[in-house]
Amino acid sequence: MLQNRCDVHTHTLYSRHAYSTVRENVLAAREAGLELLGVTDHFSDMLFPNTDLTRGSLRDYQHFINMRVWPRTWEGIRLLHGAEADIRTLDGRLFGQGIEVAEDITGRSLSAAATLYDRVVAGCDYVIASVHYKEFAAGASLAQTTQMYLGALAQPKVLVLGHTGRAGVPFDVDEVVGEAARRHKLIEINEHSLEISRRDGRTWTSCSKIAEKCAELGCQIVVNTDAHICPSIGRTPNALEMLERIHFPQELVATRSAEAFLSAMATTGLEVPGF
Ligand SMILES: [Zn+2]
Ligand SMILES: [Zn+2]
Repeated sequence: MLQNRCDVHTHTLYSRHAYSTVRENVLAAREAGLELLGVTDHFSDMLFPNTDLTRGSLRDYQHFINMRVWPRTWEGIRLLHGAEADIRTLDGRLFGQGIEVAEDITGRSLSAAATLYDRVVAGCDYVIASVHYKEFAAGASLAQTTQMYLGALAQPKVLVLGHTGRAGVPFDVDEVVGEAARRHKLIEINEHSLEISRRDGRTWTSCSKIAEKCAELGCQIVVNTDAHICPSIGRTPNALEMLERIHFPQELVATRSAEAFLSAMATTGLEVPGF
């Protein structure tokens, strides 16, 4: 039986279509026997569609700038600060990278201008890059959509590519998994994708093919719930069933222990917090 002791893609009330607090998720993580929880709310204008895409304030996104107040170890669970940022262009730029921020959360002018992305990820230990809006990729060639994921992988704070098997944007799996392996970055196997595909089957096949390629090319994966409510935290029966069917090697599961995940973070140059 494959071990999985971290859940590093989870949502809280901040994500608007998710329903639990950080503490509820922490307690659920403890109950599920996890060692480490990563909270990765949506960093996307899906939450605030009136976001000005050129010049903005931090107000709607202030959740991300004060995560330092969370206990690093809470109820025995190590807690990481993350964000699930939308991939928004074919060169792999992320939401907020084109938005200049000149005001703080009270509306006062900031002394130094920066992008919304930079302000937000400064408070994050790592970023998951995922496609939710795929209109920008309509009509794109496979070479272009592959470049999109390669561009996202090249971003320093991006540690994980999120739910690539269900994003609905086809890409060259060999190239993207190969590049992730070279950069020691992580490909997500997402429980929610597999749960959905109990009904359609197609997503299951595409997730399984991605996992097989990771095993072949020695790319580490993360097995996450993408929980939007606390009872889902740490529960990945479908993902583990799929991985066991293909005899996925335990040593390539970066979420097998807190130590393994933190060492994967460190290998990519990300700072590992003290707990
Ligand atoms: Zn997502
Ligand atoms: Zn998510």
